[in-house]
Amino acid sequence: MLLKVQGIILKSINFKDSDKILTIFTKERGKIQAIANGVRKPRSKNMASTQVFSLSDFVVYKGRNLYNLNQSEIINSYYPLRDDLNKLSYASYIIELTSAGLIEEEVNTKIFGLLLKTLDIILKEEKYELITRAFELKFISYLGYRPHLIDCVNCHNELNSNFKFSTSNSGVLCEKCKSIDRFSKPLNIETLNIMRFMLFTSFDEILKVDIDENILKNIENIMVNFILKHLDKTSFKSLNFIDSLKNI
Ligand SMILES: [Zn+2]
Repeated sequence: MLLKVQGIILKSINFKDSDKILTIFTKERGKIQAIANGVRKPRSKNMASTQVFSLSDFVVYKGRNLYNLNQSEIINSYYPLRDDLNKLSYASYIIELTSAGLIEEEVNTKIFGLLLKTLDIILKEEKYELITRAFELKFISYLGYRPHLIDCVNCHNELNSNFKFSTSNSGVLCEKCKSIDRFSKPLNIETLNIMRFMLFTSFDEILKVDIDENILKNIENIMVNFILKHLDKTSFKSLNFIDSLKNI
């Protein structure tokens, strides 16, 4: 049965002489694997639409293990992302995170919308650290692991001072409760407020503010650790690459 889906390429691996195996995040079917036959031949009509970052309408049909790509029509190639090393590396991290978090064939239209919006912003803006931190917070929340930032995750008392963020408790622990997790990380009120703001505010509003570099670094330490634990991973290749660029 032929199926029409809209999707963005998360991963593309060369297969045999002229084929590719694609990981596509589709709006209608969630993350799927599809084989694209002959797509590396010079005259293939599907060449542009099977590059990582490309957003296209696809016609696919389900084979025994994988989907098969039948036709495609490109909507947005996100081509300029590939022209700038900063844009490329942050967009690659966004894509790697998305691919790692999604479960095969589980539809998540909120994350689909968030991914397209974030790539659009990376094309136009240069506040990469701010954009990436906001994406991490929204993404992990849309996956169903929203960190508890309103009050103490353990006793629900108001957070005054000397609180910490606990990955294993998925939220902030107050002064009284912080000792229940000896791995909890320091967090000040300013950073906590920025995290709340990023979680509950639209990207357009977030982009209007300038946030201190040290606060963004603190949020990165907390969020990357939190995401790795929830996705059961030890590192993100593209994030290591971003770090190596900062040290040049
Ligand atoms: Zn408490």
